[in-house]
Amino acid sequence: MLQELELTIHGAGQTVTGSMFQIQTKTTSFLFDCGLFQGNPAEQAHRNRTFSFDPSTIDYVILSHAHLDHCGRLPLLVRAGFRGPIYANHATADLCDLLLRDVAESEEEDATRARSRQRTIKSDHIFDPEPLFSVRDAEQTIQQFRRVKYNSKKALPGNVTLCFRDAGHILGSSIVETWVEERGKVVHIVDTGDIGRKNTPLIRDPDYPSAATYLLCESTYANRIHEPLSKTIKRFEQVIIKANRHRSHILVPAFAIGRTQALIYALNCLVENSRVPIIPVAIDSPLAIRATEIFKRHKECFDEETWNLIKSGDAPLDFKGLQYIESHEDSDRLSQQNGPILIVAGSGMMNGGRILRHLYRRIEDQKTHLMIIGFQAPGTLGHRIIQGARKVTLYGRKRRVRARIEQLYGFSAHADKPELKSFLTSLRENTPQHVFCIHGSPSACRGLTRLVKKHLRCLATAPEIGQRFVLA
Ligand SMILES: [Zn+2]
Repeated sequence: MLQELELTIHGAGQTVTGSMFQIQTKTTSFLFDCGLFQGNPAEQAHRNRTFSFDPSTIDYVILSHAHLDHCGRLPLLVRAGFRGPIYANHATADLCDLLLRDVAESEEEDATRARSRQRTIKSDHIFDPEPLFSVRDAEQTIQQFRRVKYNSKKALPGNVTLCFRDAGHILGSSIVETWVEERGKVVHIVDTGDIGRKNTPLIRDPDYPSAATYLLCESTYANRIHEPLSKTIKRFEQVIIKANRHRSHILVPAFAIGRTQALIYALNCLVENSRVPIIPVAIDSPLAIRATEIFKRHKECFDEETWNLIKSGDAPLDFKGLQYIESHEDSDRLSQQNGPILIVAGSGMMNGGRILRHLYRRIEDQKTHLMIIGFQAPGTLGHRIIQGARKVTLYGRKRRVRARIEQLYGFSAHADKPELKSFLTSLRENTPQHVFCIHGSPSACRGLTRLVKKHLRCLATAPEIGQRFVLA
């Protein structure tokens, strides 16, 4: 039997993806998040399928938000024997229902296609076309969700109390506070999930906790200062005006959940205030369309500014010129449409999805604007493009990159260096014993340890995957 309180890092150690952190006490064992390792899918498949612990020994999972790098391995955990509850905010539960089914469906479709290709090609090379997880795995996972409101304390098994606070990152995103009681002593463990930014469109600002004994803190942009959102929107406005003048295409690879809705919100403001000409805007992603419906349903997560828009009679996620593209046929027709047009399609890192169809047709055109608005993980097509690749392979063919690459990181939903500093200083009165700087590249994690040492003067570590720590 375990005598101590222990933390084990199972993912997002000196890397951005695969968030998963295990807490073990004498009486319970639970996980903060259960996320996918992302990047090159073939390279990550084995890593995503293998757990270094027995999933049936985990009592429950506490989920910060509905991004795949935080929730995407849940169906694999369930398939490997995990039967406990998954605690999440209401909006997170609804978004995961959508997202996990969607991933399972496309994994099953890909596997079926791969099998039929294998039958037609005689090859000694046998590869495994198994989907990462099935629709059945996803459905079983969804049944294990338990919904918890923001700011309400919930008692969990093993003398643990849970409270979700607004993280301001995407709809339903939470900073997770737990209080773990061991031998009469209470240890306050906080996992930031992904920390959002003040003034993120639609949702409330992050609600920083004022105390923690141990803190797991994300480091994604600990070394970067984002362009202010107002400046990003000004540049966005200029791109639209230019595209309208040259009758060209604006392609925006975007995550279906969060970034797409922030973009729709920004476009709504530009159109309603006549700051840009009305050009067709197509959301070419069934997943983003369903996610936008969920955003509209969870108005309880909206901030004051969005509520004021609604009260004034404006629908913040709707404007003239906006169209939603459901079928592949319509998406194909869309890719042949002449400009000016703005097309938002997944995937956000360009390693799959409908964006490839539009890139295939438009990336060699100098008039095309390719607008990058989110993090691009190493190993993805998006990463190669921002690194300056002159040629890329799309559908097996070489294409020259002639499109104008516009990087607009002001749309980022992650806190940057000054915002992380302001988050850390909110803990000054009750400085943690130890801060674990996770969810970042090695240099970003080191950057956060420097921030912690400077502003909190406490122990800070950038742990590696597999490391274990005694907490009390
Ligand atoms: Zn996230």
